[in-house]
Amino acid sequence: MPLLPDHLIAGYRNFITGRYVSESDHYRSLAREGQAPETMIIACCDSRTAPETVFDAGPGELFVLRNVANLIPPYEPDGEYHSTSAALEFAVQSLKVKNIVVMGHGRCGGIKAALSHNSAVPLSPGDFIGKWMSLISPAADTVAASTMMTTGERATALERISIRYSIANLRTFPCIKILEDKGKLALHGAWFDVSTGELWAMNKATGDFERPEIG
Ligand SMILES: [Zn+2]
Repeated sequence: MPLLPDHLIAGYRNFITGRYVSESDHYRSLAREGQAPETMIIACCDSRTAPETVFDAGPGELFVLRNVANLIPPYEPDGEYHSTSAALEFAVQSLKVKNIVVMGHGRCGGIKAALSHNSAVPLSPGDFIGKWMSLISPAADTVAASTMMTTGERATALERISIRYSIANLRTFPCIKILEDKGKLALHGAWFDVSTGELWAMNKATGDFERPEIG
């Protein structure tokens, strides 16, 4: 029984003899001085949407949190286990990131599940996804009921609505609200289309998604 799957060992071999060598000075200085990323990205677990790949980022550049459907729950200091909130707290209060980007994506399985199980009730007692996606049940119910839209249009709509929802929830965290009001922290929305590679960014004034100029 191998210690790790073969494809991981092969990938690591490429990394340690390639990128790690060419960027060794950078890795050493990051180890010595610690990380100081300016941007936190909240992305989906989906294997096709790695922020480091989409934004061509190197070590130390992005503080990345990934969960199913890139959702931010509201601020709930209730003594329970909140992994997403813990990562946010660390990024904002310790690393003092200047930007938080909620990045959704096309063909999101979590969003698809929310649309097909448009109920706040989890699928089963052991169903974590149903409970997690119930965060956006009100929006999912509304979008799912819209017979004017195609299945694809409904998915894209909810993917983008959920980004706006997560950004609104970011503002329920007192430390985030205060820093944003002081102009020390900017909140952004983005949506990545897996099939075309297109990146869309949220217009903060309107909430609409637009293609950014990339030069
Ligand atoms: Zn997803």
